Formats: sequence, structure tokens, C-alpha cells
Amino acid sequence: MTELLYQTDAYLQEFDAVIASVIEESRAVTLDQSAFYPGGGGQPCDLGSLLVNDVTYPVDKVKKQGDDILHFLGGDAPLPAPGSASRGTLDWARRYKLMRTHTALHVLCGTVFRDYGALVTGGDMEPLKGRMDFEFETMRGELVREIEAAVNKEVAQARDVRVKILPREEAFQIPDLIRTKINLLPEGIQQVRTVEIVGLDLQADGGTHVRNTSEVGTIRVADYKSKGAINKRIYIEVE
Ligand SMILES: [Zn+2]
Repeated sequence: MTELLYQTDAYLQEFDAVIASVIEESRAVTLDQSAFYPGGGGQPCDLGSLLVNDVTYPVDKVKKQGDDILHFLGGDAPLPAPGSASRGTLDWARRYKLMRTHTALHVLCGTVFRDYGALVTGGDMEPLKGRMDFEFETMRGELVREIEAAVNKEVAQARDVRVKILPREEAFQIPDLIRTKINLLPEGIQQVRTVEIVGLDLQADGGTHVRNTSEVGTIRVADYKSKGAINKRIYIEVE
């Protein structure tokens, strides 16, 4: 079981860990703890490197498997032995862009729900670019400009972003969480991680976020399109 360091400290760029297991066929290792985000909730996985005994392995891909995180090692150096000490380093430029983008999407989601009552049906992101689908009947250029102005106003409010890990029962009593389909969480999950943009948005979310919306930058609504009668997709870029 990997301790997920990114869940409580999104700003951790380097960390020490012990190699827990090695999967030869796929050149993957698990660690006792990791700051590498394995991907999920629309946020792509982290990349970076792992230093073991003077060998620096590129970390090409990271994936969650049960309670573990698999770190896929690139290159062709012989794999390290289980029990070895290692030091992981994130590709921080990429991760920080993803944090800004992920928080930007939550600002969008919170603003659109507050102003239009529209629920999110899906989303995806890459560094500094994202998209989100809403249950909207009509979408016009005028409305998109209105949304763009409103989200940037929220970013400028310098709202704090707070992460909490709550017992399942407690989380299920928060009315704001219901709209983000918290009820779809598998029964086995005993703890719910919540991400709150204070005064704007509260969601059950496993991703990494900036501490304050002032770190997001400027959000541009780059495009929008209809994905069906009540589904509209909004594309954003973060600058
Ligand atoms: Zn999210």
C-alpha cells in the first residue's frame, strides 16, 4: 500500500521512499510512499524521475493499481532491488501547470453552477488546457463571454483552496457534495477527500490543486460546442 503524499501536500516536488516491489515485465516499481499523482478525475499522471544508487530512471508513466501506485521506469538500466532507498523528483513545471488548470476547472464548475444552476457531466485536462461538459440547453457566444468574465472575477478574489479528508458518513452529510455525485462513490471507500474553493465550490476530488485561486492566472474560454440537446462543452486555456 503506497502512502499518497500528494493528497495532503500538493507542493511536494521531491521525496524519499523505499522500493516496495519490482515488476520486471513492465519495468514498474511500487514505493512505500509517493508524491507522483497516478492520474484520475481528468487530471493526467505526473512524470519525473527516480534516483536509486546513482542511477536516475525516468518515470515515464504512473498508474494506480488497487492501493498501490505503479511507477513505470524508462531507459534500459537494470532495475533496482526491492528494499532500496530512492529519491523521487516530479516534473514540477508540468505538475504545477496541471494544478493551475485543475483549480481553474473547479472555478468554472462552481461559477457556472452558482450563476446558471448547470451541473457538470464530465471533464478532461492537459497542462494549461481543459474542457468541461455542462447540462446546458443553450450556449451562445454572449453567454460564454459572460462566463469568462465571471470566472476571472472569482480567480481575482484570491480565494483559498482547502483540502480535507473526511470520514464517509460526515462527507455524505454535506449538501454541496451531493451535486457532484458523491453518491456514486464505491461503498468500500471509507474516507472522502474534499477540495473546497472557499465561498465558491466544494467537491469530492482526488486531484492536486493550487493553494489559492490567485495562482491560477488568467482563464480564457477558448471555444464551446454542443454535445447534444442538453450537453454543452466549454474549452478553457490558462495563461
Ligand atoms: Zn477535480
